[in-house]
Amino acid sequence: MSNDDFKIGHHTYKVEEKDLVKSEHNDLLFGKCDSQSKTIELSTDLKHQEFKNEVLVHELLHAAVYESSIDLGEEEEQVVDALGKTLHGFLKDNIDVLSEMYDSGEETIEVRGDVGELISKERVIH
Ligand SMILES: [Zn+2]
Repeated sequence: MSNDDFKIGHHTYKVEEKDLVKSEHNDLLFGKCDSQSKTIELSTDLKHQEFKNEVLVHELLHAAVYESSIDLGEEEEQVVDALGKTLHGFLKDNIDVLSEMYDSGEETIEVRGDVGELISKERVIH
C-alpha cells in the first residue's frame, strides 16, 4: 500500500489527483469515487489541505457505503454529504486520541549488517 491508498472493507482504494474531475454528466467535481475500479479522484484545484481532506473523507464514505452493501438510492449524496462533514470534523478534532487508540504501540526494529543481512529483529513496545 502506498500513502495514497486507503483500505476499506476488503478493498484498497487508490487516490489519484487529476486536473479535471468530471461527473458522468460532464460536470466539474472536486472529487469522485469509482467503486468499480476502486479509485478516488481528487481535483488538483483543492489547494487548501483541510478542504481537500474533507472532500477525501466524503469520497471515502461513498466507498464505505458501497463496500458495506448499503443501498441509499437517491439519498446517498445527501447522507454522505452530511455524514462526511461530521466525520471530517470528528477526525480533525480527535486525531490524537484516535492515533493512540489505533496505534498498536509496537514497532519492529531490524538491525542489519554491511550487506543488508538481518542480524537481529525485535519488537519494542512504547
Ligand atoms: Zn458525493
